[in-house]
Amino acid sequence: MSGEPRGRWRDAALTVLALLPLLTLAAVGSTGTAVPRAVQCLWLALALIWLAAWMRAAAKSRARRLRLLASLLQGLREGDYGSRVRPGAGPTGEIWHEFNALAAKLGGEERRGLETDALLSQLLGGLELAVLIVDEQERLVDLNPAAEQLLGKSAAELVGRGAADLGLSDWLGRSAPFIDRHAFAVGEGPWEVRRVVFRRQGRPHRLLVVTDVSRALREEERRAWRRLIRVLGHEINNSLGSIQSTAGLLKERASAADQTAREGLELIEQRSRALGAFIRRYAELARLPPPSPERVDIAALIRRVVLLERRIPVQIGADSTETALVDRSQLEQALINLLRNAADAALETGGAVRVSWRRSGRDLLIEVEDDGPGIAHTENLFVPFFTTKEGGSGIGLVLARQIIEAHGGSLQLSNREKARGAVARVRVPSPA
Ligand code: ADP
Repeated sequence: MSGEPRGRWRDAALTVLALLPLLTLAAVGSTGTAVPRAVQCLWLALALIWLAAWMRAAAKSRARRLRLLASLLQGLREGDYGSRVRPGAGPTGEIWHEFNALAAKLGGEERRGLETDALLSQLLGGLELAVLIVDEQERLVDLNPAAEQLLGKSAAELVGRGAADLGLSDWLGRSAPFIDRHAFAVGEGPWEVRRVVFRRQGRPHRLLVVTDVSRALREEERRAWRRLIRVLGHEINNSLGSIQSTAGLLKERASAADQTAREGLELIEQRSRALGAFIRRYAELARLPPPSPERVDIAALIRRVVLLERRIPVQIGADSTETALVDRSQLEQALINLLRNAADAALETGGAVRVSWRRSGRDLLIEVEDDGPGIAHTENLFVPFFTTKEGGSGIGLVLARQIIEAHGGSLQLSNREKARGAVARVRVPSPA
């Protein structure tokens, strides 16, 4: 509370003192008492001096109150909403009353703003979507932990950097929402980008919400080819069965002399058998059951998988105890495929293969690294039946990724950054 009431009492006392000589003069005059003229003049002069002193004091007091008001308003401007003044009566009292109401309102708004900010940052912190805020100059001013993971750096390293520098300027110019392919620290994938323009501290800002839609798109793709395989597989298998048996029958009946017919029928029989096997494998891929998770000792699982690879010694890079909630046989299958690919690659160059695992935030990260020749065409890796190997099936990676994504995780295969070879990174959510 400020000193407004003290000033009020002083003003009242001064007013009485100022009026006292005049009142006395009037009172003496009204009684008809003969007062010498000189005394009257002196008394009047004294009264006028008193009045002037009183007016000066009143002006000073008003100036002091205005200064107090100015300093309290300055306090408001600088965010001090706690000051209050006891209002008193009269017009000044109304001003102080309004001042108190304004300070209370601003204080309440500030508190609500702080609470909203705290709630917002809690919400953003828990979001799996990456959220980035960019100012007018296209500089990053804020981001959530998912965005830190996306860009592979901490907020302290990223805030203040230009959108162009971070590879985001293209997204700022396009009309959202849209889906775009882009390579970030976390990997390459189709990202859905939504953009919102809002004002922060009176200045326009843009908020980018980035969602990894690769899994959703792949799931949609998978559903589509599952349907296709079911229908086509059924039809093709039925026809292949009769083509194969008819070809076998005709081959038996063809005269031994008709060599060309026998060879032709043999070829038909062979190709229809191979096509049948191809369709069956594809159908198997489409029929992968949902995982049945259990607590699994990861070190023991990896050691078992490593023992299956007999062509090349596999180094185990870390031996920490970690357990994860996964489908044991499915994860084993995925790791067998990755290890087999790594060993195939390492055999080409005479290099080595290493497997390691560690906790990374809420995930378990398993890395299979090889000293092979590396990957030439990264874009085709996960296309079913894409293979560069003689006798390769081209389903190892697709199946591994399908298994890992069914666990809510991710699989990336890329070239190593500082050395020759490739590295497969498996990430599975695993609460500690
Ligand atoms: P397959 O092993 O039967 O070819 P995959 O789906 O497992 O089928 O692999 C597809 C292709 O990906 C391989 O043919 C190979 O070209 C490439 N690839 C996979 N892993 C590696 C690796 N570690 N190094 C280099 N290329 C790899």
